[in-house]
Amino acid sequence: MTPGPTQVRENVRTARSRVCTNPDLDAEFVEFYKETCELISRLLHTKNETLILGGEGILGLEAACASLTEPGDRVLVIDNGIYGAGFADFVRLYGGEPTLYTVDDKHAVDPAALASYLREHHAFKYATVVHCDTPSGMCNPIGEICPLLKDYGILTVVDSVSAMLGERLEVDEWQLDVVCGGSQKCISAPPGLTLVTLSEAAKAAIRSRKKPIASFYANLSVFAHYYEEKWFPYTMPISDIYGLRAALDNIAADPDMQNRHERIARAARAAIAAAGLRNHLKSGFCNTVTVFDVPEGVTADQILETMKRDYGIMLSGSFDALSGKVIRIGHMGENCFEDKLIELFTALDGTFRTLGVPLECSMEAVFREELRSA
Ligand SMILES: *Cc1c(COP(=O)(O)O)cnc(C)c1O
Repeated sequence: MTPGPTQVRENVRTARSRVCTNPDLDAEFVEFYKETCELISRLLHTKNETLILGGEGILGLEAACASLTEPGDRVLVIDNGIYGAGFADFVRLYGGEPTLYTVDDKHAVDPAALASYLREHHAFKYATVVHCDTPSGMCNPIGEICPLLKDYGILTVVDSVSAMLGERLEVDEWQLDVVCGGSQKCISAPPGLTLVTLSEAAKAAIRSRKKPIASFYANLSVFAHYYEEKWFPYTMPISDIYGLRAALDNIAADPDMQNRHERIARAARAAIAAAGLRNHLKSGFCNTVTVFDVPEGVTADQILETMKRDYGIMLSGSFDALSGKVIRIGHMGENCFEDKLIELFTALDGTFRTLGVPLECSMEAVFREELRSA
């Protein structure tokens, strides 16, 4: 029950064992790839093209920065978390000049404050922002942030790897130019694929570069004519894509998915607060991961080890500045079902009992009660 990679349903695992064709030469596979990309675009409510790249989620972030950044380009890096700040490294790597807009990491980015910052500072080619910053569980209001940037002609690059399909995501309505997702979070296929949606404005910016993109693998332009030419820039990982398609078909058949994420996340936070534990954030709670502070008297490792040893449930700590300070419960994709969370909170109640940390009530009971009254 970690915030990704998530559990993988059996029909996704069996789809990966389908007979392999040669994806370079088989025209049917090109159709299959394109249809799968179109299904992703439909699920994200966009007319923009989606590409599936053979590489874990980070590849999408790097490919977006590599493809948009020319030496000397100024880039606004919106930062209220670890992934938020991390974009600056990719920008620098490709010769860009990042400007960090760093704000309180316990609150969601405030669109009004950003708007007043932009009135003074807006000479940027593009901006990066994280939808859900997973190490803290921070969900930013990208639906308000990105239109503000577009008012100044700033392109938007959104890391939605851990939010995509668990949070509301309206790519066209919110004017998102590049959106990155990964196979291993809410989509619940194994790790190994990046999904990237590209607006016409983003494609035009890539086409009109003066210097070539300083990468082949992290380069979105090499896919520009794959369909007309029936030729992929490199051999596609066909079994990964068969699995991804099965996972997307599961999602397409599950209209309650987004609401379920919201219900479960709300009930999880209520259970934690009622027990006298502390939800880590003050605002911006994500529907795909719940993060609480490690209470006094125990360590994160003790909680994680007891959960694993006594209940067979894997939770996650966090990293960098949050290492040892918080516990993360991933309720995304296949992990996000009521029975799984009930089992998890039963186990957490027991774990805190074992570790001698008194709770003010049973988290499992409050979780159930919250779901009933929702
Ligand atoms: C998981 C994740 C990624 C993908 O990278 P990892 O190698 O799995 O860390 C990118 N961005 C965010 C916000 C993620 O949660």
